[in-house]
Amino acid sequence: MSQLPLRAQLASALGRTAATLSRATGRGDGSVIGGRVGLMLEPDLLRKLAADRKLVLVSATNGKTTTTRLITSALQELGDVATNAFGANMPAGHVSALASSKGAPYGVLEVDEKYLPEVLDTTEAGIVCLMNLSRDQMDRAAEIWLLAQKWRRALAGRPAHVIANCDDPLVTWGASTAARVTWVAAGQRWREDSWCCPECGGPLDRAGFGNGGQNLTAAQLADTSWACRECTFHRPEPNWVLDGEDVIDPRGQRWRLDLQLPGQANRANAAVALAVAETLGLDPGRALPRLRTVTSVAGRYTTVEREGRSLRLLLAKNPAGWLEAFDVADPALPIILSVNAQGPDGRDTSWLWDVDYRILRGRPVLVTGERRLDLALRLAVAEVPFQLCESFEQAVAVLAPGKIDVIANYTAFQQIRAEFGRAV
Ligand SMILES: [Zn+2]
Repeated sequence: MSQLPLRAQLASALGRTAATLSRATGRGDGSVIGGRVGLMLEPDLLRKLAADRKLVLVSATNGKTTTTRLITSALQELGDVATNAFGANMPAGHVSALASSKGAPYGVLEVDEKYLPEVLDTTEAGIVCLMNLSRDQMDRAAEIWLLAQKWRRALAGRPAHVIANCDDPLVTWGASTAARVTWVAAGQRWREDSWCCPECGGPLDRAGFGNGGQNLTAAQLADTSWACRECTFHRPEPNWVLDGEDVIDPRGQRWRLDLQLPGQANRANAAVALAVAETLGLDPGRALPRLRTVTSVAGRYTTVEREGRSLRLLLAKNPAGWLEAFDVADPALPIILSVNAQGPDGRDTSWLWDVDYRILRGRPVLVTGERRLDLALRLAVAEVPFQLCESFEQAVAVLAPGKIDVIANYTAFQQIRAEFGRAV
């Protein structure tokens, strides 16, 4: 990598100092404050830090952090990788990530969906990875359509190579102005935001239908093709296909994933990661063993122990995330649900009504968190028996020693992690 100009070097160094101070004073991992200081001193710092690297931007409603981690692990086979591992996914976090690994020839950055056009413009990243778009907390379908439209404008006329999930119609539409796209049939479980054609507003004919996929047969879920009934917009032919436990590469070769991360959503993330890795010259034979080393990502899927109870932590921030968590949770185990409504969660919990909770019938369900009453009402209407608990500790104490699944939204998850130690 070429040397940074003096001003950028200074900004980058001061940013790192601010990050160290922030960590030392217990104000978090420091990545955001450090980046902010750097950007204040040198507004062009992100552009300068991004230059001369092979850069991958990763964006989606769900799975950004995990996919960023999977791609990073794969590319470490090729060399050092700069990455924002802790989910600081706006420009200050990107500055901090790149400044802390200045010599790394590769960069993999998780990018907030709304910031993608700006970050692409600044960094001129060569690879952009787009996985899914769905309502997030109170965002409605119209807003994610606007987001996809911004992606289209940002990608048009750029040389970036896009790796996109063609099973998500909105992502397909958002990616299709790019000069070059590798399509990955990575599946789509949450379909409630994909009934209309993003191009013309007409009805989309889908292979599977209903209830966000929860009541679909395995064969219906496997068939993910779609087409607009009124215009020519349809699913592109995929280059890579996720087929159950396997990924089929563009040459037709089948690779058994055998990940340590659980669930269909993570197999989809891994399929996308393999496609990205190959774009950078790393074939699945070398990338896959690296993906299998990832066991938990920023505390997700971590198991923590307390008084004979093994609690597995699952994060679900929006309706699609809850379906993914249900897919991972073990039907034979009791489950604790914890819902907060602080700033990062969104204060309005009406999204709880978008989730079909009936899959939880038949297992012990404990409900806690600031908005436990909202969730309790929703469960009562869905006729899911549950027990209301004042606190997370109380919920844990109610259950007998053994394995327990926990699904929590953002701040509830962070509270539980803080209490049980920041295992990563
Ligand atoms: Zn159409």
